[in-house]
Amino acid sequence: MITAHIPSGYLLGKSLQAKHRLLMAVVIIGAVFPDFDLFWFYFVDGKAFHHHRYWVHAPGFWLLISAIIIPVLLLWYKAVLKPYLFFLAAVALHICLDTIAGSIMWLWPFSNQLYELTTVPATQSHWILSFMVHWTFGLEIGIWIIAIAMVIRTRLSLDT
Ligand SMILES: [Zn+2]
Repeated sequence: MITAHIPSGYLLGKSLQAKHRLLMAVVIIGAVFPDFDLFWFYFVDGKAFHHHRYWVHAPGFWLLISAIIIPVLLLWYKAVLKPYLFFLAAVALHICLDTIAGSIMWLWPFSNQLYELTTVPATQSHWILSFMVHWTFGLEIGIWIIAIAMVIRTRLSLDT
């Protein structure tokens, strides 16, 4: 997924009824958070390998770290538990959406194999163009349309 992580986060926030702006912001940030590894990918590693191999794109990493974070929050920082779970749900959504036409190490730490539902063939001069003419880009457009419609509906309901 290239463009639809932010609107998908918005839709997730709406479905989780994240009515507080801060909670909605946490969900939207979580929905794009794994792609912050692109800074490391471009500026540190010099595109040495697929950015989906970084830990933020590995579900196993989030399971391991959450096995520590959730009990800590339950014991000492209960007020942060709900925002963390919303953030985690958004990260999970991001990883699931990336699995459609990207590739994810679903079995890490047991395997570094990347898994994807469909492969986007390099049919154009640039990989982004290849993604834009692939049927999966229709999913991204669909997510954008639904999110924009939801924003408009929310705005209209606030005006009345
Ligand atoms: Zn990603």
